[in-house]
Amino acid sequence: MLKQTIKNFVERLFASAPRGPERLSRDKHGIDRRNVSRHAIKVCEVLRSEGYEAYIVGGAVRDLIVGLVPKDFDVATNATPEQVRPLFRRARIIGRRFQLVHVVFGQEIIETSTFRAMANGEEHTDEYGRILRDNLFGTQAEDAARRDFTLNALYYDPLTEEVIDYHRGVADLKNRVVRMIGEPEARYREDPVRMLRAIRFAAKLDGSIDTASAEPIARMAELIEHVPSSRLFDETLKLLTCGHAMECLRQLRKAGLDRGLLPLIDQIFAEEGGEAFIALALARTDARVRSGQSISPSFLFAALLWKLVNRRWQEITAKGEHVAQALVQAADSVMDEQTRRLAIQRRFQADMREIWFMQARFEHVNTRAIWRMMNQPRFRAAVDFLQLRAEAREVDSVQAQWWMDLANADDGQRADMIEAYQSTQRARPAGAKRRRSRGRKRSTPHDQQAKSAPSTEN
Ligand code: ATP
Ligand code: MG
Repeated sequence: MLKQTIKNFVERLFASAPRGPERLSRDKHGIDRRNVSRHAIKVCEVLRSEGYEAYIVGGAVRDLIVGLVPKDFDVATNATPEQVRPLFRRARIIGRRFQLVHVVFGQEIIETSTFRAMANGEEHTDEYGRILRDNLFGTQAEDAARRDFTLNALYYDPLTEEVIDYHRGVADLKNRVVRMIGEPEARYREDPVRMLRAIRFAAKLDGSIDTASAEPIARMAELIEHVPSSRLFDETLKLLTCGHAMECLRQLRKAGLDRGLLPLIDQIFAEEGGEAFIALALARTDARVRSGQSISPSFLFAALLWKLVNRRWQEITAKGEHVAQALVQAADSVMDEQTRRLAIQRRFQADMREIWFMQARFEHVNTRAIWRMMNQPRFRAAVDFLQLRAEAREVDSVQAQWWMDLANADDGQRADMIEAYQSTQRARPAGAKRRRSRGRKRSTPHDQQAKSAPSTEN
């Protein structure tokens, strides 16, 4: 323990000492310039031609070195925002606390920030040591030292094709080790979100967190509670959509970080089939992310919380409440508990409720209402959700497929499907129209013919 502390101290000392960085040539880092955004290169070229320093930095350099496709490209420079902006036709200064420039090229935005100085002990912090303001410009070396992990502190010079590495980040990256720059405990205290980032990068790179950087996390997990909830929501979403969501969730739970983000997850894992349901939902999400498809945050959170909503729904229904009303109550109670910790944005909450509420209608629909349902904006998502439930063997897969086919059909085909469904309803003797219980207990689909699916009417 003491040895580790001394080692960290020495490392911290060296981190802030004016040690020269390593300059790695192309054969050492392996970045193919053709994979670099030409707009990011352009920004660097313009700044350089004006006599400034400019590099591509952060996540893009990290991802390019390991062969992943970067989400976006950031540039770091010694020019101030006021100096950067007039150099580009479409550029705007954003941010109040720390200003940076968005240089816009069609759909792509190159975020261009000025080198920032490291925390020097004089910055404003909250009572837990979390930094509230750090808006000092600095040198490139200082900028590198205030970044979070060694593998995120790499600067790519598109003109020389060199990577400038102050903290042996390329070596760590090649070994897939996430290592905090400086003293981990202090850096987590400054910004507890770094704990979540450590977990995310380790999962994304299929690597690990270095021992000294991992050790304080479980101990410091509760600091996450003091982070503003909008920032927490953004980082949680990044965790769940990094393509390795289940691994991230496992690590979050191991460190006790999940309690501050998704307070109900423990309860959901304890539900029968709860873990399996979440694993299914996250596997779907991961597959979509990895194949470059978009992810809907509302679908994701609706799935994470569903098992609890579903159980409360059944409990309330069993007490005699009307099915749809019971679902509203169940959704309210789960959402209230969840948002006490992590506030899911309101627009997502509204979509989650719609996805959930439609689950009741799939099962207790009257035929005229089918057309109305199809016009709802979240119909498609709700049908996807029904499919997920079918995969989890919670609802009948024939029924779920009928709805999926309906969602995929054109209006003419839809009319035929609904007509076919209506005629099976008419053919059925009145006595057969009974209300069925939901979920696992249901034995057979309402009708074995695949093309006539929804269950009994209310
Ligand atoms: P991705 O964009 O894939 O989520 P990223 O590393 O680019 O990953 P960003 O949030 O875009 O993450 O941040 C860009 C860079 O800014 C990081 O690579 C890192 O160098 C620095 N950075 C971001 N957040 C922090 C933080 N909380 N503390 C210190 N440095 C940070
Ligand atoms: Mg980024």
